[in-house]
Amino acid sequence: MTQKTINQEEFFDKASKLYSPEEFKQIEKAFYFAQEAHKNQVRKSGEAYFVHPLNVAKILMDLLMDTPTVIAGLLHDVVEDTEYTSEDVTNLFGKEVSVLVAGVTKLDKLKFESKSQAQAENLRKLLLAMAKDLRVIIIKFADRLHNMRTLDSVEPEKQIFTAKETLEIYAPLAARLGIGQVKGELEDLSMRYLYPEDYYKLVSLINAKKEERDRFVKEISEVLKKKLDDLGIVYEINGRSKHFYSIFKKMRRQGVGLDGIYDLLAIRIIVPDKKDCYNVLGIAHSMWAPLPYRFKDYIATPKPNNYQSLHTTVMYTREGEDEKEGIPFEIQIRTKEMHLTAEYGIAAHWKYKDGTTDKSLDMKIAWIREVMELSTSESSINSREYMSSLKMDIFSDEIFVFTPAGDVLCLPIDSTPIDFAYSIHTNVGHRCVGAKVNNRMVPLNSKLKTGDIVEIITSNSTKGPSRDWLRIIKTAGARSKIRQYFKKTAREENIKIGRDMLEGECKRKNCTAKDILIDEWLKEIATRQGCNTVEDLYSAIGCGEINTSQVIPKLIAKRRAYLKANAPQKAEEVEQKPKKRAGSGNILINGESGMLVKLAKCCSPVPGDNILGYISRGRGITVHRADCQNINNSEDERRIKAEWADVIAGKFIASLAILVNDVGGIVADILSMISGLNINVCSLHANSHKDGSATVNMSLELASKEDLEGVMRKIKNFRHVMSVTRV
Ligand code: MN
Repeated sequence: MTQKTINQEEFFDKASKLYSPEEFKQIEKAFYFAQEAHKNQVRKSGEAYFVHPLNVAKILMDLLMDTPTVIAGLLHDVVEDTEYTSEDVTNLFGKEVSVLVAGVTKLDKLKFESKSQAQAENLRKLLLAMAKDLRVIIIKFADRLHNMRTLDSVEPEKQIFTAKETLEIYAPLAARLGIGQVKGELEDLSMRYLYPEDYYKLVSLINAKKEERDRFVKEISEVLKKKLDDLGIVYEINGRSKHFYSIFKKMRRQGVGLDGIYDLLAIRIIVPDKKDCYNVLGIAHSMWAPLPYRFKDYIATPKPNNYQSLHTTVMYTREGEDEKEGIPFEIQIRTKEMHLTAEYGIAAHWKYKDGTTDKSLDMKIAWIREVMELSTSESSINSREYMSSLKMDIFSDEIFVFTPAGDVLCLPIDSTPIDFAYSIHTNVGHRCVGAKVNNRMVPLNSKLKTGDIVEIITSNSTKGPSRDWLRIIKTAGARSKIRQYFKKTAREENIKIGRDMLEGECKRKNCTAKDILIDEWLKEIATRQGCNTVEDLYSAIGCGEINTSQVIPKLIAKRRAYLKANAPQKAEEVEQKPKKRAGSGNILINGESGMLVKLAKCCSPVPGDNILGYISRGRGITVHRADCQNINNSEDERRIKAEWADVIAGKFIASLAILVNDVGGIVADILSMISGLNINVCSLHANSHKDGSATVNMSLELASKEDLEGVMRKIKNFRHVMSVTRV
């Protein structure tokens, strides 16, 4: 994303390289004309207004558009915002340019009763012009892109309106026309204003691991290059960075965290022809195991916007490594031509005219004409209906359904009546007992389609949502509302389920429940897990937030300590045992205790982590986390199996990075919470960032991974904490 504004020399330099001398002269003429026309205007940012059309024209050059389009980009606001008229533009630059400018010129504001009516009518006009000449919409994309890049300087209310319109109309349109570049950037910029918290959180999460990712992509590329060179295949390999909004959408859709996104790590391979695509795919699959259900052949079956590529996700393992330890990453394989189509979509047509006949272009935009016919044939259609019918047609992964009163709801594809009920109101969801679609009763798990009229039947005597619903629903909103419900109203039940689960686990471990489920011990564990009472702990276990394996081993350890303490001859020894750093006694090397062991400083493992030993020259064994980069890059024969002993004494150091959006007071709050848990803070350091957020780094002295997780959970609960990660 380049946000730099272009200057005059750069612009002329670029234009002279892309266009013939005659064309360049025309562009130069338009440049000076627009500069003069806007000379008394300034943008909200305080810059000269001309900066805007200049950048719009530059974006159009980046998209490799033809000369009339670039000229129209320079002139696009002249008729709307200056004293010059459409006739002036026709006289100076000809009919073609003038029609393009007229296409993006908005209707007179005074004609409309409301902002939403103006929005709908302007869009209708834009689409009509676009159906006649597609270059109109490409100019509009460039205009919107620059306005979005500079949205910081307008009022907050306008930011939201513009970002929303961009996300709902322009980004899907760009996707539909296959202009991947524009779509991705428009979405990311909209997200920044519409979901600022999620945006900055994601950006910082992703940037935190950027170096690691770059290194990884480089490593894979090296391995692949060797193989492809051997086979004499010509290729280009790039690391591919995924857009923030598409990651965000995926996380919400699949209800997963960043760890669940497989294609954060991705490379793209570009080869000369189709046959090579499949060859490269075969090579990749022979080197690394493909993940099931992740292979997609968009070459054989292109997407509706003509996108073509092979996609696959494989488990990357280094030689000698177990497949289970592999890292998933995505590979996209395509030809140069497919790549141009993916990035430029319909815009590629003007640059690569020779390859594409006008007829094929016509087919690509047939749907636009259909939408336009629909909207003009019914002149009585109101602006709201128009907007929704338009959105309906542009979106392909969403459906539009109606309430009996005619309100439109937009839901993800395959949504159920339950999703519908929850998106109307939480209580409609909770009390939902049945649904009618188009006046017929349907099962609650049926899938809704665009155009359905949905009526939800509620009852006050229902017991509330069913746990089975969690498996049927599609929307994140419904999911979190149902979870909340169970957390609150089903507390009693969760407490019982939690206790039963613990007792069951005791049996499996051959312990007597009454010997180890001691209130005092449970209370201590509850506090460490971030629960206030033992009942809260049971409840958290019952609803799946805490696993029994985080509790039972500690209870067993307590029981052992208790038995030891109560064996009279050894009592003294136990009491006098000094507190010490975790070391040799706690770690088994190849099943043996008592080895000389040190914990690695680079990754500071704590009990509960998967660990690996490294035999260092003359300094015993260093124990690393199994996922530590350092040990993974070390020589195979020096690695040795390591595991935690059952009873662990001593303390461990863990480092956390906490991202907060407002530093005032928050650090003190966190520290007082931690000291309440009797946990030592060894170091603390805060770094504030430009946007007002700050990263707080702290190391804690802890007894186990469970304690660490408990603390992390408690920290996350503070209002101004955006993320907590282990360093
Ligand atoms: Mn503009």
